[in-house]
Amino acid sequence: TVVTRFAPSPTGFLHIGGARTALFNWLYARHHGGKFLLRIEDTDRARSTQPAIDAILTSMRWLGLDWDGEEVFQFSRAARHAEVAYQLLAAGQAYKCFATADELTEMREAQKAAGRPMRYDGRWRDRSPEEAPEGAPFVVRLKAPREGATTIEDRVQGSVTVQNAELDDFVLLRSDGTPTYMLAVVVDDHDMGVTHIIRGDDHLNNAFRQLPILRAMNAIEGGWPDPVYAHIPLIHGSDGAKMSKRHGAVGVEFYRDELGILPEALENYLLRLGWGHGDDEVISRDQAIEWFDLDGVGKSPARFDLKKLENLNGQYIRQADDARLAELVAPRLEITPNAEQLDLLRRSMASLKPRAANLNELASGAAFLFRTRPLAMDHDATALLSGSAPALLAQVHAALDAVEDWDTEALEAAVRQVADDAGVKLGQVAQPLRAALTGRKTSPGIFDVLDLLGRDESLGRIADQMA
Ligand code: GLU
Repeated sequence: TVVTRFAPSPTGFLHIGGARTALFNWLYARHHGGKFLLRIEDTDRARSTQPAIDAILTSMRWLGLDWDGEEVFQFSRAARHAEVAYQLLAAGQAYKCFATADELTEMREAQKAAGRPMRYDGRWRDRSPEEAPEGAPFVVRLKAPREGATTIEDRVQGSVTVQNAELDDFVLLRSDGTPTYMLAVVVDDHDMGVTHIIRGDDHLNNAFRQLPILRAMNAIEGGWPDPVYAHIPLIHGSDGAKMSKRHGAVGVEFYRDELGILPEALENYLLRLGWGHGDDEVISRDQAIEWFDLDGVGKSPARFDLKKLENLNGQYIRQADDARLAELVAPRLEITPNAEQLDLLRRSMASLKPRAANLNELASGAAFLFRTRPLAMDHDATALLSGSAPALLAQVHAALDAVEDWDTEALEAAVRQVADDAGVKLGQVAQPLRAALTGRKTSPGIFDVLDLLGRDESLGRIADQMA
């Protein structure tokens, strides 16, 4: 059975690139009826923080990316990682290296002078630990293969080959006994039973170091099969460079809190960013589970486009349940709505949804409902209320006051009658009326506005502006 995992390092928020990696892993597991696991890679003690862990878990829950079983904390498994290092050591697949800091510096300088990146030269590979001074500190290094080449049949990148001579004997255990990231990932993936490693292609190079550890363990005890790798291209900003803080919003929480994006919209957008199913733009969660496969993942980096995300968000807003939207919009209002106001907010959604691209626009569109009389008029509204407007409003007031059933049909008939009687177009009545009712030049349809505000509030607001 398929087992995937998402393995974020908790050093900040959940990056949207990370969210997409999590989504792909989640979808792949759900598509195959497998398991999706979560591992928090908190081995960097200085940079891993509890708020960052919380941010990741909260963002994943918000996106509905539920993981199977308890999340695994990598740091808590350090003893197990060390155990594997010692197994490799005992089997001669790893060795103790007593090279001093000075020796390593010298090695680095020499290679730098030759214009090469640092490669450990293997000086302790074939030496006996007995040659080292009593009690000298050591690290454990993998006895990596030197001959031949390693090929990965990556499900996204295709066949990728690296000459083994290019890889050095890297460190598994540091001199203080703590495992390196490279070792920890391999041991955890094995112990968690991970079959498919789907992650950013910035980890492709690491795969060539992780595979030899895995294969060495497989040689020792069996049961450490190669996983399937799928290294997905990173998300790029509109300028084509790797998406980073420089591009503005990179944390999932920012999309939720500041931009007012719905989780299903962000998820749909991230899905389409790097994976495609024909020309389909709006893809439901069920369809995504049914259709998702690694074959549809593109090889070149996709560009993040906020306009497209907002466009999709608008489509999801129009589909969303009004009560749910009202709950999400409520905290974005200037007031804290009571139950009655919350209900009004819910009723207003139908007329606000068609134009809104995010929750903030819904909130600003609904704001007029909760303003108190006399309304503060913005610049455009003030302009609409000059000239003959106050006199027209007095006629509107009289006509509306006479309406028996306060429903949109009757309201429309009354306002049209006023326009006819005055010999003007409906717009010439509707515009000052809108200004009087909302304090703005734009709002939902004027009859919806009257309907939402109700008789008393509507007549009061009109009276405040009429001659
Ligand atoms: N912790 C790594 C990261 O956040 C991911 C490691 C992996 O997926 O193998 O980039």
